[in-house]
Amino acid sequence: DAKRAHLQVQGLSAGYGAFLVLRDLRFEVKPGLTVILGPNGAGKTTLLKALMGLIPRQGLALLDGEELPDKTHEVVRGGVTLVAEGRQLFPQMTVLENLELGGWLVPKAERAHRIEQVLADFPKLRERAQQLAGTMSGGEQQMVAVARAMMSAPRLLMLDEPSLGLAPRMVDELLTIARRIADAGTTVLMVEQNVKKALAVADRGYVLERGVLVASGPARLLERSNVIREAYLGAG
Ligand code: ATP
Repeated sequence: DAKRAHLQVQGLSAGYGAFLVLRDLRFEVKPGLTVILGPNGAGKTTLLKALMGLIPRQGLALLDGEELPDKTHEVVRGGVTLVAEGRQLFPQMTVLENLELGGWLVPKAERAHRIEQVLADFPKLRERAQQLAGTMSGGEQQMVAVARAMMSAPRLLMLDEPSLGLAPRMVDELLTIARRIADAGTTVLMVEQNVKKALAVADRGYVLERGVLVASGPARLLERSNVIREAYLGAG
């Protein structure tokens, strides 16, 4: 589908001050669901932060052929949203208020309609609209964070470890939501530690180790590759 967002990255480097974490990465995120796998400290979160403009980066990052802006609010305006690790909800505000805040870019006249759309996509949140976000379970909060990100109707949605710390059933539910969002036309780039489950829902994957991409391919092939089997699935 020509309208679905496509990210191309060439020669991307980023880090913290003089400490370079990512070195000269080349990859692309095609329409659908792409997962980035890799051990703790590999630089997965750093990669998402660099694309969002939360830390400086070098190299090219083209979204549908246009260079991503440097400043985070311009990146968001350009149609890219990040659900950061730890979710960063406003715990003393209701689910509905959290969603409203996710719609700061949406023209006021359209905001109610957008909330209605998002609640239709997340029916569980409709029942909980008036609940304080901080009183929800981890999985429910993660769902609110994803729904809030969808308020800006992004072309590219980035998810940093959406399944972190969740019970197995909630992991499945969150990954299914990511899949559904990709199928509905938003390109999704997801970082995950849950290798097996992530590859089961993704179209394509990359493996990042010590700031370098060491493997890539269609999710089904990657699952059977030696680098994944030996390092992450405990198979010989
Ligand atoms: P995890 O799954 O543990 O979050 P990750 O692959 O996302 O791992 P990053 O969080 O990107 O890894 O970290 C990559 C490297 O950058 C690590 O060596 C980490 O210590 C370092 N790092 C991360 N954040 C900062 C920071 N704010 N300042 C300095 N170094 C940092």
